[in-house]
Amino acid sequence: MSFEPVIGLEVHVQLNTNSKMFCSCSGSYQEMEPNSLVCEVCLGLPGSLPSVNLEAVNSAIKLGLSLGCDISDVTKFDRKNYVYPDLMKGYQISQFDMPIATNGKINVENKSSEIKSLIRINRVHMEEDVAKLIHNELNDSVFMDLNRSGMPLLEVVTEPDFRSSEEAENYLIKLQSIVRYLGIGTANMEEGSFRCDANVSIREKGTEKLNEKVEIKNMNRIKAVARAIEYEILRQKKAVASGERIVQETRGWNDIESKSIPQRSKEDAHDYRYFPEPDIPAIKITAKFVNEIKEALPELPEDKQARYINDFNLSSYDAGILVSNQKKAKFFDQVLNSSTKLDGKYVANWINVDLNAISNAQKDDELEKMEISPDNFGKLIMLVKENKVNKNTAKDLLSEIYSTNEDAENISKSRGLQKMEDSNELSNIVENAIKSNQAAVNDYKNGKETAVRFLIGQVMKQSKGTANPNSAETEIIKQLKNE
Ligand SMILES: [Zn+2]
Repeated sequence: MSFEPVIGLEVHVQLNTNSKMFCSCSGSYQEMEPNSLVCEVCLGLPGSLPSVNLEAVNSAIKLGLSLGCDISDVTKFDRKNYVYPDLMKGYQISQFDMPIATNGKINVENKSSEIKSLIRINRVHMEEDVAKLIHNELNDSVFMDLNRSGMPLLEVVTEPDFRSSEEAENYLIKLQSIVRYLGIGTANMEEGSFRCDANVSIREKGTEKLNEKVEIKNMNRIKAVARAIEYEILRQKKAVASGERIVQETRGWNDIESKSIPQRSKEDAHDYRYFPEPDIPAIKITAKFVNEIKEALPELPEDKQARYINDFNLSSYDAGILVSNQKKAKFFDQVLNSSTKLDGKYVANWINVDLNAISNAQKDDELEKMEISPDNFGKLIMLVKENKVNKNTAKDLLSEIYSTNEDAENISKSRGLQKMEDSNELSNIVENAIKSNQAAVNDYKNGKETAVRFLIGQVMKQSKGTANPNSAETEIIKQLKNE
């Protein structure tokens, strides 16, 4: 029997609003002293009343529109009840049956197969974040930091439309970049501002039935989500092959050991007893309000990608790499603007291949450590384009000035790295090479043409790679014939 995986994703996006979702406590809680950003509302004290953060509603509409969703005319909040120590009130304010955005869709490209899949977005809803628990294993105690409780979250829920871990991974990269382009959150997975749960099941290929699904949690990198999904697919296939039944459960992913462990089974699955939040009236959203937000949306990754393909004749793959990181796309635009002599394909190649290699080597996925300015980068690659500096030399220089932004023109001149334009200088170096390598000269006279290659190598070495190998060859043969 051959099986196919059926995967759905739920992503929590933390918003970077000035204040929390329902109170005026500051929204910049990272690196603050624990429990210093709290008030009667986010502590859930009796008699306190929540009021909705308009900035968070705007952000929700922005994301909803960017995911092709319908924005609801009326949206309301509900109480989601559960007993867990990260909730002060004993319930979380979330949205149940009238979420702010529904019925979206997003194209996800599979880089390896170039197949585009349409992933349906079931909903985007608003809710508040819960407190942060820090488990102290030394004495089996738990610390609680309430600074995060009440922070605004958007939960983005897809339909079970993914058929591989690669699709899921590419979706997350795309969603992350949309959030960043919109400027509504950092979407940083490591700091917990972008959290993903994956629902995974398998079914016989060609059938439509949805089987018991397993929810996987605790992945803190996009790559870890892909690994966890791969692991789960394999685990379920093995279980079914040996006649076991898959049980619906929640499993926690341990990325260090590369395995998932059961956390909760269906028997104690939560019954949330949702009911409408009586302290917050339903919100009416007018078409005019939505349109104003729509008109102010920035150019999104997908549109930017289409523009790059169209205007600069880039491949979909190359344009995709550029737009996946907002900083990279901006850098590309700025480098192109720095000189009219540069063309899009040439710049894209330098950024996607050479700059990428350097940022990877420096473990700098987001180009956060990069100091080189677009102007200076443009200067450096112009030196190669105008044949003044060797490509390899320029790559070495790039890795050096990546974090210093030292002027490319100055540094290449002061170190004598620009290609030799003076033919007298070349002729002197060739003369020297011939004098000090008599054995090669004799070889040449005895008909061994390979001796010329050796001499070219010597000339390149002496000129620190600045000589033009073709000119060197011509000059060597000329001088050897006069010997
Ligand atoms: Zn508060």
